[in-house]
Amino acid sequence: MTTTLAIANQKGGVAKTTTVASLGAALAELGHRVLLVDLDPQACLTFSLGIDPEDLELSVHHVLTKGLDPTEVVIETDDGVDLLPATIELARAEADLLTRTGREHVIKSALEALEEDLGDEGYDWVLLDCPPSLGVLTVAALTAATGVLVPLQCETLSHRGVGQLLDTVHDVRRFTNRKLEVWGVLPTLYDGRTNHARTVLETISDTYDLEVVEPPIPKTIKFAEAPAAGRSILATNRANKGAQAYREVAANLVTRSQRPRSRPSRKTASP
Ligand code: ADP
Ligand code: MG
Repeated sequence: MTTTLAIANQKGGVAKTTTVASLGAALAELGHRVLLVDLDPQACLTFSLGIDPEDLELSVHHVLTKGLDPTEVVIETDDGVDLLPATIELARAEADLLTRTGREHVIKSALEALEEDLGDEGYDWVLLDCPPSLGVLTVAALTAATGVLVPLQCETLSHRGVGQLLDTVHDVRRFTNRKLEVWGVLPTLYDGRTNHARTVLETISDTYDLEVVEPPIPKTIKFAEAPAAGRSILATNRANKGAQAYREVAANLVTRSQRPRSRPSRKTASP
């Protein structure tokens, strides 16, 4: 069974893309079959996996707006994960999809088509790298997802967007994906030496009644260097404490994926 996780937060720079690349590599190390989907027109995920978006003729944009078979676009990467890459053309997809019926379901349909094609060879995990907005692509990602994980930089005011994101999740549950579960917040760029980071984290998890996924990902300079190498930090700096933290998070997510899925509550199920 495939677990599809949307990594979402409409704020930029909170380590969504880093989390997708690192968790993907960590899950692959554990022997899982992993697909990463780049849903940001900036194509940072694609680039960080060693692929120059400018060299690509086909990308996720063609799958979502032109109905191209996803198997024609998926690329194997050096990190042991497969990638549905993005290019800047994806910026147009957002506008193209706005007038389309069923736009919320485009990612879900594409993943279902892929699953049908692959049969027993299908993916254990699909990680969706959302763009920094709550637009069509993020809603389509949430519609396709089993769960949503929210990377959060623990600084003052970082929680201002969380309520809005949770409102979107609530709408998605009501209208397009009753089974969507919030897997929690993942503290990123975490400086555990400050009480401040811990206080902010506690406030956020209390205010919104959110689980905190452990362990927090420490701030380390090595993350900035990894994308240029075209590999995730797990490959470039195996023993780095950030890489190690992502491995532990991946193991915890695997445990979580084996939990029986909770039934959607009545409150969110019937409008
Ligand atoms: P987003 O996808 O949310 O915009 P990114 O993953 O692109 O965020 O990360 C934003 C920046 O922060 C990048 O330059 C990345 O290298 C850096 N970064 C991410 N995680 C860490 C970390 N744990 N320590 C230090 N820098 C990090
Ligand atoms: Mg990003």
